This record gives sequence, structure tokens and C-alpha cells, in this order.
Amino acid sequence: MTSQPQRPAFGTLLTSHMAVATYRDGGWSQSEIKPVEPLPISPAAHMLHYASTCFEGFKAFRRDDGSVHIFRMDRHILRLQQSARQLVLPQPDAAQVGEMVRAVIKSCRDAVPEAPGALYLRPIIFGTTANIGAATTPATEAMMVVLASPVWDYFASGPKPLRILVDDQNTRSAEHMGMVKTGGNYAAALAPIMNARAKYKADQVLFCPGGQVQETGAANFMLIREGELLTRSLDSTFLHGVTRDSLLTLGRDMGYTVSERKFDVLEMLDWVRTGEAALSGTAAVLAGVGTLIYAGTEHRVATGHVGPVTSSLRAKLIAVQQGELPDRHGWLERV
Ligand SMILES: *Cc1c(COP(=O)(O)O)cnc(C)c1O
Repeated sequence: MTSQPQRPAFGTLLTSHMAVATYRDGGWSQSEIKPVEPLPISPAAHMLHYASTCFEGFKAFRRDDGSVHIFRMDRHILRLQQSARQLVLPQPDAAQVGEMVRAVIKSCRDAVPEAPGALYLRPIIFGTTANIGAATTPATEAMMVVLASPVWDYFASGPKPLRILVDDQNTRSAEHMGMVKTGGNYAAALAPIMNARAKYKADQVLFCPGGQVQETGAANFMLIREGELLTRSLDSTFLHGVTRDSLLTLGRDMGYTVSERKFDVLEMLDWVRTGEAALSGTAAVLAGVGTLIYAGTEHRVATGHVGPVTSSLRAKLIAVQQGELPDRHGWLERV
């Protein structure tokens, strides 16, 4: 391996500018591009007390010719609208969010890293109404901000098979909130994750409420065996990942059978005796699982290494994102 310069950790570096819009009196303001700086927010703001906040995360990729291509922004904007709706926050206008994202990219075109790096885009919407008595009332004022962060290969030192604690005791979120990308869900999952790190040296927790396999704190979960991909069917209890959808689509293109249904911990443990297990999400794309820890017992996933199908699916999606394979599904938008 060639030696890599030291890169900042994922998400720790922001570009110089952000896009901001505010909502009051029933409408969104025009958005503005501003230097990244502290926001004027009341300490009584609704989101600080009652967690009326949601976000999105997706990537844009630079090509050798200097053009920048955003991956599946339409799907991420739809999910942002869905999250805002579920939190009774003002609905963002899809065209406005798209314009804000493009404006941020234009403000920092030169900061978009070369492949395998990317520009990670992070829109947020949160309630700003200054009223500490609004515990059961929605925010009527809000702010929308789009941040951008240069990111490099998530696995700069090579893919490492993950250790995952299988948890059938805790839930990640309330059942109707799993599909909402909202801050409270991550805060709720933190204590079980920290506990799993301390007690089992686990990288992540796979939440399996009632024994049914769901997802980890910030990634979807899939199993692979004998030409079949298995993942939980969509319901309100977990986040509907765009990476999940993209990998299932590419998997079908490659001739795999895709099964979306509920499955329990025992079925999962049977699959991993010879199969593969992996986590999917925008940041890491697809990360192989080497060990599942359940009820105090370690279960090695096949050989314990990142599986061959996991590696090839991951490589395929990255190749589409970077323009090395044709964009057959119209996933990329050039800015
Ligand atoms: C963001 C997220 C994912 C992955 O979604 P992508 O659209 O693939 O990035 C999965 N689970 C949770 C809980 C998430 O927050």
C-alpha cells in the first residue's frame, strides 16, 4: 500500500461556507450562502428542549475532469421531508433544498476531494421557536442549514471485519420513529453502544427488538448466502437507507436473489455459519461483519474475514458513484 497523508476523521472537517434558510410566518426565507459560523439561536429554542431536529447525509464525487456528481439527492430530500413531517417541523421545499446543496458545492468546488474521497453533504432542519412551554406543541419557526464536509475513504487502512453485539433487549428508537433521521434516536442508542464497546469490545450494536433483526445505531444490516441477499423488509421501525436500496438494486442487476422480509436472531446465526453479514450506509458504503456476539457467545461469520460478495458489491457501488461504471439507474446529478 502507498502511504497516505494523515486525513481528518470522517465529519470533523467542514468547508468554509454553508447555506441557511429560516422559516417563520408560514414560509421559508430565501436561502443564503454564508461563512460557517455560530448560529443565532435562543437558549429556549424548541429543538434544544424537545429535540425537533432532523438531518440527511449523502455524498458528491469529483471526477478527473473536475466535474462533481451528487448521488441520489432526490431520495435524500424525500427522506428529509418525511422526517420533518413526522416531527411536525415545517416542510422543506425539495427544489429549495436542492438549490442550497448545489450552492454549497459551488462555494467549495475546490474542496471536493479526489476519489476515493467525496464531499459529504449534511442538511439539517430544526425548530427554533423560543418557548420552553412547548413540550406538546410543534415549533412554528425553524431553520434549515446545509453543511459540507470533505471525507476520505472510510477504510483508509483497509477493510476491517466488524465485531457486532446482537442486542435483543434494548430498542434503538420508538417503533414509529425508526424511519426518521432525528437526533433523539442516536442519543437513545448511545448508552447501549458504549456499554457494548466497554463490555465486549464491539464496534456496533445490532438491535433486534423482540428477537427480530433490525439495524445498528447508524447503518442497515444484510445477510448474503448462496446467491441470495436477505434484509429486513421496510417498516417504520428502522431507517430506509438509500445505500441499502442501491445495493439491492445492483445485487439484482448482478443476478442475486433479493429477499426483503423479517428474520430472527436464530435464522441469522444459521446464515452466518457459511454466509456473509454486512452493514450499509452512506459513510462506509458496505462494511463486512466478522463476528456476532450473542448471549455471551461469539459467533464467527464464516471465515471471520470480509466476505467476497460484500467486497464486490461495495466495489460496484463505488465504481458507479465515481463514474467508472455506467449510471444505469440515473442516480447521479452533475453540478
Ligand atoms: C443514515 C442511516 C442509515 C443509512 O442510510 P443511508 O441512506 O444508506 O446513508 C441507516 N440507519 C440509520 C439509523 C441511519 O441513520
